[in-house]
Amino acid sequence: MRPWMLPLAVCLFLGTSLAAVAERPEYRKVDERRAGQLGIRKIVGRHLWLYTDLPASNAVDELPLVFDAAVAEWAEYFGISPQHVSRWKMQGFLMRDREKFAALKLLPPGDVEFVNGYAQGYELWLSEQPSDYYRRHLLLHEGTHGFMHTQLGSAGPGWYSEGMAELLGTHHWEDAQLRLGVMPTDRQEVPMWGRIKLIREASRAGEPLGLNAVLGLGQRGMLSTDQYAWCWALCKFLDSHPQWQSTFRQLQQQVAEPEFNQRFLETFRDTKLDQEWNAYVASLDYGYDAERMAIISATNRNKKTVSIAANRGWQATGWQLLAGKEYEVTATGQFQIAHDSQPWPCEPGGVTLRYHEGRPLGMLLGAIQSATGNPYAKPLAIGLGQTLKPEQDGQLYLRVNDSPAQLSDNQGSLQVKLR
Ligand SMILES: [Zn+2]
Repeated sequence: MRPWMLPLAVCLFLGTSLAAVAERPEYRKVDERRAGQLGIRKIVGRHLWLYTDLPASNAVDELPLVFDAAVAEWAEYFGISPQHVSRWKMQGFLMRDREKFAALKLLPPGDVEFVNGYAQGYELWLSEQPSDYYRRHLLLHEGTHGFMHTQLGSAGPGWYSEGMAELLGTHHWEDAQLRLGVMPTDRQEVPMWGRIKLIREASRAGEPLGLNAVLGLGQRGMLSTDQYAWCWALCKFLDSHPQWQSTFRQLQQQVAEPEFNQRFLETFRDTKLDQEWNAYVASLDYGYDAERMAIISATNRNKKTVSIAANRGWQATGWQLLAGKEYEVTATGQFQIAHDSQPWPCEPGGVTLRYHEGRPLGMLLGAIQSATGNPYAKPLAIGLGQTLKPEQDGQLYLRVNDSPAQLSDNQGSLQVKLR
């Protein structure tokens, strides 16, 4: 078998072994006369031609246009020159009735089973979806696989391959303008997508996946829907983190290395990735403001009073609390919390007329970052003052209670003292 004929299959998790670049595109031949007799038509774009048995509609017929716009975005994201991909093309099959495509031998080779989508080499397959958003999402997901495999030589291990396909499949499409890698602002923007809901449910049930568990996903067999959500969450987290975005994006260059996960762990070894991941999965929501939610480190460990900004997520105090000792934490100051565009004057006790996650909006919250556990999953209510008696040694982190999507319009800060 010559290198370009190696099967480049994705969404079935063949792991990192598929490092071959498909140098010469191969496309199965379609008997268009017979396809036409079965009601299968062809929609043509610059970078994609799509065979489908769906009737003509704007949302279906514009899919090659969406794909063309995505190619420019993928090229930019992966640092590939537009000229290099000017003639790059995929052949796609969007199927309502798979039997028709089976009759023409147009299904993936080797009786590959797939639920919603599949990509191999320069071809992709999609099952019809009940929402226009999710149909496009699936096309962009499989297209990302195709682009990475054929342009980068691999899509990396399961979590990365699926996480990147989900990251670059999550999109905003309006007036023929495409944006990839968006953080959806609400559920209505992404019907059928559901990734954030799954993460929130797992976190509330006390079953969030740790980093290592996510890195191990996709090593064998197909992923479940919630596993796709975790892969997306990790890639989205790293890709939008103000401190780690460029480091994460540089890993693209190692995607064909069999030891990719090892490289990943070495790259992030001396960071607080675990801590930030815990804080992220505990508060992830639609419209999550990654810039403002990134944890602020302490600059000085010996201050008796710290200032906590109302428009940021968790902020380190520098105070190392010891297990079993009692500490008095008090807070003062006036700041402004805006919620759904309404500004509320606020004190550290919070606004008892408005709640977020079951606690008054603007209330001062604490978390003691110790060696084990996720303190951000169940923050301590501090308000105007609280006595803390930690069970483990750890540093105290503080923030005011607000949605991670609504920090940008808060103003001011509060002063917190430790005794
Ligand atoms: Zn996939």
